[in-house]
Amino acid sequence: MLSEGEALISLLSSQSSPQVHTQTPAHTRDLVLDIQRLRTHYFLEKGTVKALDGVDLQLKRNSTLGLVGESGSGKSVTARSIMRIIKSPPGKIVDGEIWLHRDSGNGTRKSVDLTKLDPRGADIRNIRGKEVSMIFQEPMTSLNPLHTVSRQIGEVVRLHQNVNKKEAEAVALEMLQKVQISDAKTRLKQYPHQLSGGMRQRVMIALALSCNPAILLADEPTTALDVTVQAQILDLMQGLKDEFNSAIVLITHNLGVVSQMADHIAVMYFGKIVEYGTVQDVFHNPQHPYTVGLLQSIPVFGKKSHSKLVPIRGMVPSATTTIQGCAFAARCPYASAKCQEPPPLIESNGHKVACWLAQS
Ligand code: SF4
Repeated sequence: MLSEGEALISLLSSQSSPQVHTQTPAHTRDLVLDIQRLRTHYFLEKGTVKALDGVDLQLKRNSTLGLVGESGSGKSVTARSIMRIIKSPPGKIVDGEIWLHRDSGNGTRKSVDLTKLDPRGADIRNIRGKEVSMIFQEPMTSLNPLHTVSRQIGEVVRLHQNVNKKEAEAVALEMLQKVQISDAKTRLKQYPHQLSGGMRQRVMIALALSCNPAILLADEPTTALDVTVQAQILDLMQGLKDEFNSAIVLITHNLGVVSQMADHIAVMYFGKIVEYGTVQDVFHNPQHPYTVGLLQSIPVFGKKSHSKLVPIRGMVPSATTTIQGCAFAARCPYASAKCQEPPPLIESNGHKVACWLAQS
């Protein structure tokens, strides 16, 4: 006979949690991540910053999504919301869902809404590093300066895999070899300050991929590196993505990088996705005036040297501004009275655009 307490625990554990689906809906079968209406706000003394204001975004298995836009558009906050590492207070996910779809063996899939998890709880800690990993722009801020490379990678491996210290060290060495770091055995015993910028970024990638995550969030992973090392790191990420069958969200302001790496591109402006499509859609048939402006403002190899780059006029609105209609209206050469209403993100053949012009 169970006690009242045991009966209650048994009853609660037999009910499926409201944020977990053991059978993933059919229309999401090829997705690993499905973000719906996500709103992440920062409540500051000077006002509320709506860093994400209704973001809808999907990531397919074994694909690369390039997330582009100017500084402050919400790219990094999107990644931090997925990882549930938004600093709170002042930040908070106030609305929306982030569905992580995972294979759970026997051909079945399990889905979990990350927004419903306690950001400090065991469930999200099990997901971070194992299911979803992140590479930050400056590895010195995320690598622990007091621990050796071996200890840092080994700890992540031991947290998520049933291995002893020696086995974890062997995994760390194998990962360093995979990211093609020179003299991997020596690097294992070194501290972050003893490595060059390129080596630290390789260690960061090795750390992020050490548990074979389904999703890798790479936030400006090569911005701090010189061009040659940048190209090597991007090649490496592409190769590892295929080897580990991971999906990548590549956050960057560099359209050249996404054109080489991404399968799909999402363009963000003022906390919203304003255009989404394949690389072909977005680069060769841009529909949103902001995307057109971004493409006209980058130099193109082979273009005549006297042809001028066209900057996007005006500035991104102040983060605490409340805008009723289209947030790009003050900078848009095509703005009309209709643009005082917010344009919805409308899809046509997989190409999504939030602009009244594209819908007329
Ligand atoms: Fe320009 Fe209007 Fe389109 Fe906004 S909705 S991008 S203001 S045309």
